[in-house]
Amino acid sequence: MIIAVDFDGTLVEQKYPKVGKEIPFAIETLKMLQAKQHRLILWTYRAGDKLDEAVEFCKSRGVEFYAINKNYPEEIFDESISRKIKADMYIDDMNYGGLPDWGEIYADIVGLDSNGVQVSQIKRKNGFARLFSKD
Ligand SMILES: [Mg+2]
Repeated sequence: MIIAVDFDGTLVEQKYPKVGKEIPFAIETLKMLQAKQHRLILWTYRAGDKLDEAVEFCKSRGVEFYAINKNYPEEIFDESISRKIKADMYIDDMNYGGLPDWGEIYADIVGLDSNGVQVSQIKRKNGFARLFSKD
């Protein structure tokens, strides 16, 4: 899966323009997702030096992204078109419902139940299915 990951408030505490403290297990989770062949795109409003600091923060902890603020490494950023990227999933603290903890995110993505048993790949129940399902 292609997973776009925000930085401030998602991987680190929201302290922009500073780099906040790492949110527990964020970096470790990214590494585990990469180990499972997921492609991670860093998707942040940071640019220039502030972006470099974020990239370096992750790199020094062992995470290198497939692409940064773009869809693929070779993409040339064109200001005249939308910056929307195409990912299968976005992990962002501004999600409706906020940011779940990283253990939960990992389990959801790789399909583990609460005992760590593999059940399935992520399935997104829509709101109604969730409201009316028996489990
Ligand atoms: Mg954020």
